[in-house]
Formats: sequence, C-alpha cells, structure tokens
Amino acid sequence: MKIEKNVLIMSLFPNEITQLFDQTFNTFKSYEQENPEKFIESVSDNIDAIAVMGGTKVSSELIKKIPNLKIIANYGVGYDAVDVDQATLSNVKVTNTPDVLNDEVADTAVALTLCVYKNISSANNFLLEKKWLKSEFPLSKKFSGTKFGILGMGRIGKTIAKRIEAFNCEICYHSRNEKDVKYKFFSKLEELAEYVDTLCVITPGGEETKHLVNSNILQKLGKNGFLINIARGSVIDQQALIQALQNNIICGAGLDVFENEPNVPDNLMKLDNVILTPHIGSATVETRYDMGKLVYDNVVKMLTTNSTISPVN
Ligand code: NAP
Repeated sequence: MKIEKNVLIMSLFPNEITQLFDQTFNTFKSYEQENPEKFIESVSDNIDAIAVMGGTKVSSELIKKIPNLKIIANYGVGYDAVDVDQATLSNVKVTNTPDVLNDEVADTAVALTLCVYKNISSANNFLLEKKWLKSEFPLSKKFSGTKFGILGMGRIGKTIAKRIEAFNCEICYHSRNEKDVKYKFFSKLEELAEYVDTLCVITPGGEETKHLVNSNILQKLGKNGFLINIARGSVIDQQALIQALQNNIICGAGLDVFENEPNVPDNLMKLDNVILTPHIGSATVETRYDMGKLVYDNVVKMLTTNSTISPVN
C-alpha cells in the first residue's frame, strides 16, 4: 500500500519499522542529516506527519514551521519532549505508545530493584577482578518481604505491583488520586517515603512532576531505603540524590533515567551503592517493534481516516 503523504522521521526506529514507513510513505529522515534543523526547514512545507522517539524535542517553533502537519506520533508512552499545547493550538494530533511497553518497563524496574539490593554489579566486578580468590563478597540486604512504595500507580505502576506481589512485599503507593487497587494509598508522598523500604518512581515527566522527589523525600526514605527511578530524570532532584547517596542518607539507588541524558555526572558514576542503566526501560527487540508498529499504525490511521489509535490531545 502506497500513501502519497510525507513523513518526517526524526529518530532512529527499528529497521522493520523504518522499512514499513519507507514502503508506505515518502519519508524524510532528519536524524541522518548533519544539520537536522536546516534539513527540516528545507522540507517543512511538504510534511504531513512526524514520527519521533520520546526524548527528541518537538518544540513549539518546530510545530509552527510545518504548516500541513497533522500528527506527531511519539515512540514512547512519555511525551514530555513534545509541546502538546502548541500541537493542540495548531490542530495537530499527538499520539503515544501506551500499554505495549508495560511488561518491559516493569521487568526493568524489578531488575534494577534486585540488582541494587543484591549489589549484583559490584559482585560481578568483584569476581572479574579475581577478588574472590582472596575474600568473600560482603553480605547484601534482603528484598523479599520488604515494604515497596510506588510513586505513580498508572499502567506501568500496576504492572510493577503485580510482579512485586511475588516477593511477598507490602505494596503501597502515592498518586494524586486514589486508584481502584488493593494496595495501601498514601495521599502524601512524604508519608509514603517514610513508611516504605523502596520507593519506585513511575510518573510522567514534565513540569508537573519536576523534583517531586527532593532532599526532604530522600530524608524520609532514610538510611535503609532504596530509590528506583524508571520514570524520567526530571522527577528527582539529581543533585540532592547524589548528596543523599554520598552521605548514606539513603542506602542505594537503581536509575534508568537522568536529568540531562545522555550525560550522567561523574560523582554519580563513582558511587558503589547505585546501579545505572542508559534509559533501557522498554529497550528490547520485541517491545520496541510493538511500539514502532503502534507509531506507524497511528500515522496511517491519521493520514487515511483523520483519527488515531492512542491520542494524547
Ligand atoms: P500513566 O498510566 O499515565 O500513569 C502515570 C501515573 O502517575 C498515574 O497513576 C498518575 O496518577 C500519576 N501521576 C501523574 N502526575 C502525578 C503527580 N504530580 N504526583 C503523583 N502522581 C502523579 O503512565 P504509564 O503508562 O504508567 O507511564 C508512566 C511514565 O513512565 C511515562 O510517562 C514515562 O515518562 C515513563 N516511562 C519510562 C520508560 C523508560 O524507558 N524508563 C519507559 C516507559 C515509560 P494521578 O493522575 O492520579 O496522579
């Protein structure tokens, strides 16, 4: 099926998805260009749709420069890098990729949690550096049976909770509104942080959640507490977190996301009570294909029927 419309692809998608776009539309790939901005300006009059990975900025200036734009299809459930208000003003639909990544991101959250409790990364290095020949690796902390707090009981938060049940943990959560779930609700994040052993962050990013986890919340989490962030770097005051980790105000952290990706501060990387991953929450072949296919399906639907599958505005 060939559709005579023009799609601007701003980020690298899985090969099969790029091929689908190439077979169906006329495509313009700004991420391959030495000067993406200049390239976009040169083709902007013709573009009908944008396909973009969450994290690549789609600013109000960019949206205003593309007069025939009908859809910004975001590859990721978090769309905080897209100026949705401007898109709405310009009559442009924004879509994201909810649900298809719930299992993957929840699996990553559990992996980070177990890795940081059991100090897996340091244990791996200990063996590779042949230190085992001389001594035993220090004892770590038990995770099963602890109190597990979730900040953001949405689609992914619920999927994490289901997995954590298997560890006989007491599951609690905070979000702005109480949800229809069996877990204990805390209307104040502060009180949740004080109550639990692990605080797992899985809210959206953006201004509304900026630095929700600050030095006060870290103090409440306390010296036996662990922080897991699988949401967005902006939700945590990273400087306060580094200080809390350096001064044993909390016990450890598992972080998949950072404030200024892909830059990670040296003083965070030097700590041995952290496990750090490069924003791989949903990054498997299978899940990234499913996400890419939903991006493609949204673009096809919008450009053929003027409707979408997973709209955010
Ligand atoms: P979702 O279903 O919309 O859930 C978000 C939850 O956060 C809701 O329970 C919401 O409840 C709560 N929330 C929103 N604002 C809040 C606030 N100010 N204070 C407290 N709670 C708040 O979203 P999802 O599909 O689970 O995805 C969540 C986020 O995960 C995404 O937006 C994305 O940023 C992140 N993510 C990261 C990765 C990764 O690779 N690391 C992958 C996928 C997603 P209330 O509205 O009741 O507050």
